[in-house]
Amino acid sequence: MATAISAIRVEGVTKRYGAVTALEAVSLEVERGEFLTLLGPSGSGKTTLLRVIAGLERPDEGRVYLGGADVTDLPPYRRRVHTVFQQYVLFPHLNVYKNIAFGLEQKRLPRREIERRVAAALELVRLSGYERRWPHELSGGEQQRVALARALVLEPEALLLDEPLAALDLQLRKEMQRELKRLQREVGISFLMVTHDQEEALALSDRIAVIAEGRLQQIGTPREVYENPETAFVATFLGAANVFEAEVMARENGDALLALCGRTVRVSLNGRRLEGSRAQVAVRPEKIALRARPLRKTDLVQLEGVIEERLYLGDATHWRVRVGDQSVLVTAPNRPGSRAEAFRDGQRVFLCWARESIVVLSQ
Ligand code: ADP
Ligand code: MG
Repeated sequence: MATAISAIRVEGVTKRYGAVTALEAVSLEVERGEFLTLLGPSGSGKTTLLRVIAGLERPDEGRVYLGGADVTDLPPYRRRVHTVFQQYVLFPHLNVYKNIAFGLEQKRLPRREIERRVAAALELVRLSGYERRWPHELSGGEQQRVALARALVLEPEALLLDEPLAALDLQLRKEMQRELKRLQREVGISFLMVTHDQEEALALSDRIAVIAEGRLQQIGTPREVYENPETAFVATFLGAANVFEAEVMARENGDALLALCGRTVRVSLNGRRLEGSRAQVAVRPEKIALRARPLRKTDLVQLEGVIEERLYLGDATHWRVRVGDQSVLVTAPNRPGSRAEAFRDGQRVFLCWARESIVVLSQ
């Protein structure tokens, strides 16, 4: 099988600003037609990586390839990528048509072709008929659609999106998330989107790359990264997770025997390496059930605890349960007839979860 050429390939990129290392040996590939999200906290190097790919920053080390060609030494305008920013920077003195046509006019394309491509781009973002409007006559969501059309009309190899929806209010953001996904499927080009919103990353991406302090932490499908986080950072940044310290009693055939909160549990290592006598494991709060009484014969892990806090959130309830010196988060949807809602502060409860819900974290 021939190796497919990636739309974007970043190889060993390091970028320093004086004493700050914004990116450290980052390697990443975005496949053709893929929606890849770069997820990380503020200051983790997300924007810097997009700027390196766009050619707005020169890496101190490493190379950048677009469509298989090394573009590290090319200026931004010779790279077939376009960036859509959080602040939709439309030209205020140009109407919607002129804003979108701008890049094509710079290329001196024939007028008929420009008209055809602008019309197609407007249709893609569902703004046909808005040609004569001025930017100040558009809502935030509409302005961001024009910004997307302006980038797409240039038929880039890939679109770089830096927190494109962060300036929109929640309702509109949800709507635009669906739009963005539809648009990406329709045009079939690669999207590399930056966000610090984990739900947005889960909902939109083919794959998510988690970044912290300039280093890539983990990359995989939303399901892989959520269900099988490699580190405590990934487990707690993408969703909520309870992290427990455990003692390693034995290792055998890809399993480990762990002493966890006073119980002995056999867990799968899932290919993770485990060295030394201590381990950290993660359990997602929605995988833990609360019971008033313990189960007698069971394969489940069971711990006794006391409810210290209950938060009613409309669609779900969150509990904090004290187990020894640890506070464990448990969440459950509020279903009709669900007994869980009845648990009160100070009540003695049993936490139960399946062994398969335990993820051994890398050290
Ligand atoms: P993010 O987009 O994930 O919030 P950035 O890529 O903007 O993070 O920044 C990563 C780190 O690099 C931060 O510590 C930031 O302060 C620093 N940084 C970014 N741009 C510059 C710059 N032009 N000069 C100096 N430091 C910078
Ligand atoms: Mg940023």
